[in-house]
Amino acid sequence: MPQISVGDLMRAHLSQGSESGIRAAEIINSGSLFPDEIITAIVRDCLHREALAGFLLVGYPLSTAQALALDELLRELGKPLDGVLHLRLPEAEVERHVRRLAARGFCRDERTHRFEPEVDQLLVDGVCNVCGGELYQRGDDTESSIRSKFRSRDAWLEPVTRHYARQDLLVTVDAAGTSDEIAKRALTALRAHNPRPRSGPATS
Ligand SMILES: [Zn+2]
Repeated sequence: MPQISVGDLMRAHLSQGSESGIRAAEIINSGSLFPDEIITAIVRDCLHREALAGFLLVGYPLSTAQALALDELLRELGKPLDGVLHLRLPEAEVERHVRRLAARGFCRDERTHRFEPEVDQLLVDGVCNVCGGELYQRGDDTESSIRSKFRSRDAWLEPVTRHYARQDLLVTVDAAGTSDEIAKRALTALRAHNPRPRSGPATS
């Protein structure tokens, strides 16, 4: 099934300088969050252009306004949702990510060089593998600030998951293990939730 990553769509619009992209760039430069209507216009444009029989929307909708707009858009297209996949991080996984992110090292010479002790093997402690620059930890990378970011994300997603739970579309899956394990678990859960042949779109 084709996947439509709304994050990728946004980046493509930004780099092409489309009308939505230009407005989005102005918003990014002003330091504000993206308004729902721009994101929805980009998704609308893509779904009308692609005319896919079925698809998986990734990273959208992330607010109740976006969810309501998507309901409306899919009604127009005559393609009801089959299911909404909610990947939930179990508490132990949250703590693992918190420790991993808090231990990240950033290169003083090039900010795109970053290292995670659990994933990357440093050749020399405290030194960037790529350019030899000094590694440092960011001041806001404390365990408690990272943990509170995870918590606030759960909190602002809650109205969206409630919106779909009310329509009996929500399928919640634990996002623990490798990406293959998570994908397998998600597919099994979606099939169990909706055993008829997959024709319409799903979203996550
Ligand atoms: Zn470096």
